[in-house]
Amino acid sequence: MIEALKYGDFVAPVVRFAPSPTGRIHIGNARTAVLNYFFAQKQGGTFILRFDDTDIERSTEEFAAGIEVDLAWLGITPDRKFRQSERFALYDAATEKLKQAGRLYPCYETQEELERRRRLQIARGAPPIYDRAALNLSPSERAALEAEGRRPHWRFKLEPETVRWRDLVRGESHIDCASLSDPVLIREDGSYLYTLPSVVDDLESGVTHIIRGEDHVTNTAVQIQLFEALGGRAPQFGHHNLLIGADGQGLSKRTGALSIAGLRESGVETLAVAAMAALIGSSVAVQPVHSLQELAGLFDLSAISHSSARFDDEELKTLSHRVLHGLSYEAVRQRLEALDIVGHKAERFWLAARGNLEKFADISDWWTVVAGEIAPHALEADFVAAATQSLPPEPWDETTWGIWTGALKQATGKKGRDLFHPLRLALTGRESGPELAKLLPLIGRSKVLARLQG
Ligand code: GLU
Repeated sequence: MIEALKYGDFVAPVVRFAPSPTGRIHIGNARTAVLNYFFAQKQGGTFILRFDDTDIERSTEEFAAGIEVDLAWLGITPDRKFRQSERFALYDAATEKLKQAGRLYPCYETQEELERRRRLQIARGAPPIYDRAALNLSPSERAALEAEGRRPHWRFKLEPETVRWRDLVRGESHIDCASLSDPVLIREDGSYLYTLPSVVDDLESGVTHIIRGEDHVTNTAVQIQLFEALGGRAPQFGHHNLLIGADGQGLSKRTGALSIAGLRESGVETLAVAAMAALIGSSVAVQPVHSLQELAGLFDLSAISHSSARFDDEELKTLSHRVLHGLSYEAVRQRLEALDIVGHKAERFWLAARGNLEKFADISDWWTVVAGEIAPHALEADFVAAATQSLPPEPWDETTWGIWTGALKQATGKKGRDLFHPLRLALTGRESGPELAKLLPLIGRSKVLARLQG
């Protein structure tokens, strides 16, 4: 196990994102990932992806692989990754150490016995915490319980002290451990609950900052005691607020609601999801960004509010449109190439069409308008004749549209919608769309002539 960190010296941060691969990650998990990632990035630190897969029954390879895909889509590439299921030897060694130190003790109560005692305590007006009855078992009592076929679960003996830490988000924080039950670290079947392996790994991998959801605040007090019991020193902690859905309920990996995979499939832009994940529920306004670096610059852990943040689907959609409409050609070039939108017109085309997109994928339809074939639209013969007549010779640029329609107005006496609407229909096959002044030179004279003829 590595030495506890020496604060005072500057140590580049080491953070970890530690999902259990029991489902795909949702936007709330992505928030934890993004916050950790930016925290490390801004200080040249290391981001570890750790799969908390000690629950062998519910963890799957598919979910783990899916989570990596989701992170990659968000623009997060871990510097290191590992899974807890490969590290049981480390947890066993820590278990031994705690047993030696008298901090881990065997308990034999069944769920029903514990529940009965809990109800009694509540009836008496006492706090429902574990009474440590098992601590007083004599060796012969233990032997008798084992002879009955009972297997122990193991509890960590908490020091009855107030644990204090300076939270990166919530400021001075404390929890009185005398008001907590000694937590179970190892189940009857020998399997580990999350609490101990997490601390062992954080120590072993030199984690300096643990940034995670507020639902872990109580764990933090317990884990700080565990870090110390194992001879280490606790890292710094930051607990961010949690996201709730439009229905006011927390998000769950199990339901798949607001999963990153689902959002991606719905065509929402990565940068919108990342911006929402990083900024929602903080004093920095949720806003469109052009890159993850720009977003990292806006991010600030101490700006996160202390109450939960409500996630709004509509807000994400609107943000996604705004992100899309502001993306430079360079930013989307590869994505355009993947759709075969290439060549000397591609950049001008992107700049002309981006403002009309709801989803990136819609760009293909506009490319067809510019570079492919569209269904013909028949216009009045007189109008077609006049339009053809007044069509300027190439080369064309963005002034051509004004020159052409000015001449056509003179020739036909039509103006406004009567003039523009039939032209838009004939040239694009659509009722609305990008500015025709920009599209016209991209469509080119021969296609324009053909489309006017229907
Ligand atoms: N596997 C835990 C979770 O997903 C990790 C919590 C932590 O970051 O320590 O909630």
